[in-house]
Amino acid sequence: MKFYSTRKSCEEVNSIQAVLAGLAPDGGLYIPSNFPNTSFIGLAPETPFVERAKEILWPFFSADLDRGSFNSICEKSFDFPVPLRFRNQQEAVLELFNGPTLAFKDFGARFLAEFLERFGETQEKPVTVLVATSGDTGGAVAAAFFNRPGIRVFVLFPKGRVSDRQRAQLTCWGKNVFSYAVNGTFDDCQKLVKAAFSEVSICAAHRLTTANSINLGRVLPQIVYHSHAASIFYHKTGEKPVYIVPTGNLGNTLAAFWAKEMGAPIGKIVAAVNENRAIPDALISRKWTPRHAIQTLANAMDVGNPSNMERLIHLFGNIESLSQKIQAFSVSDSSIQETIRNSFFGKGEILCPHTAVAEYVRTKYFANDPAIIVSTASPAKFETIVEPLIGKPVEIPPKLLELLSKPLHEKVIDPDLSNLDWDDFIFTKN
Ligand SMILES: *Cc1c(COP(=O)(O)O)cnc(C)c1O
Repeated sequence: MKFYSTRKSCEEVNSIQAVLAGLAPDGGLYIPSNFPNTSFIGLAPETPFVERAKEILWPFFSADLDRGSFNSICEKSFDFPVPLRFRNQQEAVLELFNGPTLAFKDFGARFLAEFLERFGETQEKPVTVLVATSGDTGGAVAAAFFNRPGIRVFVLFPKGRVSDRQRAQLTCWGKNVFSYAVNGTFDDCQKLVKAAFSEVSICAAHRLTTANSINLGRVLPQIVYHSHAASIFYHKTGEKPVYIVPTGNLGNTLAAFWAKEMGAPIGKIVAAVNENRAIPDALISRKWTPRHAIQTLANAMDVGNPSNMERLIHLFGNIESLSQKIQAFSVSDSSIQETIRNSFFGKGEILCPHTAVAEYVRTKYFANDPAIIVSTASPAKFETIVEPLIGKPVEIPPKLLELLSKPLHEKVIDPDLSNLDWDDFIFTKN
């Protein structure tokens, strides 16, 4: 399969080139030239997740990888459970937080790390992975890339805007992981990443790539769990679920659309956003206007200018057509709090603030539809928000406890490319 840029002013590339580049040279985002229609409905619902991953993702890589290496990338990346928890016949929660950093970003980050380790190391210079994070991406990427030969990671996060436990996950690494607390917002971090890509000399000198959902290697693996969940749901209920996704940079929502393109039995796709209203406002005004990010309780979704809007608009041609296909609802901080409280006292479920955004949208707008609620992170990462609302401590999973005991390595910087340690790279695995 070939991949081309949304802006169509550069050459088509193969999968390895697309993943190694991250962003296309014309500033656009790579997209697959087609979406092979996999017969999801034919795949038995009990198909193990990793087998489904091999089946669904292979067409994207079959021209460039041998089947053995590809299967091994899938097996190493997806070695944790992916439960679809049914509350009743009408409603299920897709729990994506059982990976090493307890958020869905682990799927894409681990796949990308396995991939880059195999295909990045073939040259002498190390690959530099740049990642802007509003909290979770950086932690998942740092964990996935830590100690991999031939790769270093620059993690950029907005200083003071991530939770303490997220901060520990971003900065407990050292070695080939460089963590920067940037004076600014997530959008400032994302702007730095884009600025680095626009400097030809930096790109060439450092073999830059990105682990944000700009990178196809991050988004493609996310197709798998949406397909997996929708197939199981459809087999069990005979219905195509309304699919409610907590949304920030639109990567996860895009992956749901791509899953649907490939035949996954998904009904309506709904983007549940926090008080950052760029997406719902664009669907109403039929005009795309990026915003500055504002800070909310669901901080991994504090995005004013979601990168993947460009891919979504491309998929449907223009914003008018897109607005026929997607619905988006904004949820306030007070509704997030109310939902966390109600879920705990009503159902005994403890939700993270991001999942609470989707849960609120479910209850308020789709209460009577068959639905899947995508649950993106463990509440244990957001204890300062969740614990006061439910009046008890959230149990800390052992994986997180281990990270929390490590020393932090971070550098505070102003958002300027010259503040990154471009020349600091002597790294060998030990
Ligand atoms: C990143 C993240 C989101 C938003 O996902 P996008 O793909 O950026 O839309 C939602 N919830 C959590 C917990 C996240 O880490």
